[in-house]
Amino acid sequence: MLIVGAGPAGCTCGLLLLKKKVECLVIDQAEFPRDKICGGGLPPRSYRFLSQLLPEFRYDYNNVKRLKLSIEGREVIDIQMKEELRIVKRRQFDAQLLETYQKSGGAFLNDSLMDIEEKDGEVIATLKSGRQMSCDYLVGADGANSRVRKYLNPHCDRGSFILEQYGPKSPENAIQINLSASYQIGYYYSFPNAACDVQGFGDKNTTLQSFRQVLREMGCPDLKPMGAYIPQSTDYPLHERILLIGDAGGYANRLTFEGIYYAFLTASHAAEAISTGRPFAEVCRRTFVRKRTEERVARFFYSKTGLGILRFLCRTSPWLVRWCFIRLTT
Ligand SMILES: Cc1cc2nc3c(=O)[nH]c(=O)nc-3n(C[C@H](O)[C@H](O)[C@H](O)COP(=O)(O)OP(=O)(O)OC[C@H]3O[C@@H](n4cnc5c(N)ncnc54)[C@H](O)[C@@H]3O)c2cc1C
Repeated sequence: MLIVGAGPAGCTCGLLLLKKKVECLVIDQAEFPRDKICGGGLPPRSYRFLSQLLPEFRYDYNNVKRLKLSIEGREVIDIQMKEELRIVKRRQFDAQLLETYQKSGGAFLNDSLMDIEEKDGEVIATLKSGRQMSCDYLVGADGANSRVRKYLNPHCDRGSFILEQYGPKSPENAIQINLSASYQIGYYYSFPNAACDVQGFGDKNTTLQSFRQVLREMGCPDLKPMGAYIPQSTDYPLHERILLIGDAGGYANRLTFEGIYYAFLTASHAAEAISTGRPFAEVCRRTFVRKRTEERVARFFYSKTGLGILRFLCRTSPWLVRWCFIRLTT
């Protein structure tokens, strides 16, 4: 079993396989701790699922219970949530996850996947070091620019480009979201982690210029922007022995862009498929259905009509909007 990528998807899959007594090797081209551009937001659904999968895993986070929603820069709702959202620093979180995997006896190699070949029913991976490895299963957990995915589908869509910067930490310790009819399926966010506020923006046409414009509108200083893609595919290339999980598979949420939950979820699907011999497509069936529903909901939510309805509900039935936001995260 070879898992390419030691992010949340790869390490979770490795840990779950270890629990099922399946030997595997995780490789990553980066030396850990490594940075990952990400808001680091774990809503209750995400951290509850994580503790169900890996009860032994301990990690650091900032606890946030306040969520402020604005539309066109005007605040429409200020929610105090019952359950906290956890904001992690990915550099730290991913290193802690890899450490847990290694301490559980998981094998790790710092190397990069360069090429994939198939011969006589086996998958052969060539690494940057020149090493060649043949394996029964190859799990592509290599993120947004996945080489494994390109092998299965050379013309895959890159998804949405998101830019973010680290701003000074505000005393409010609140998550802020702004929606606007001028954004093309996307939103502005500010997520407070333990050290700073991560301010980000992304939609279908994000550019440095549009990011700066949004920052100005939100009254944020223009600091050092960093960008990354969130792939959101609708094709999910499937292969008997090569499985794509997490961002490599394009599973991030269409509405919220949240991808860490889907990294855990698809990692658990891959571990189940590998350990039981069931086809990955079959294990993932309900997830595929959920993705298609999300796609439709996101298209409507971010349309002019969708935002109009949201604005109307914020005025007339804020309790309903509050309920929807809480449902969305739990
Ligand atoms: C700006 C931004 C903000 C986001 N905010 C949130 C958020 O608040 N909440 C949330 O849930 N999600 C968020 N996401 C999405 C989230 O970051 C991803 O969904 C998540 O990181 C996916 O995890 P992964 O393990 O699939 O991939 P990754 O975390 O990207 O890990 C992939 C790993 O593969 C390694 N790798 C790549 N290529 C190779 C190779 N050829 N050989 C060996 N190793 C390789 C990389 O070094 C990396 O360590 C955000 C994304 C972006 C871009």
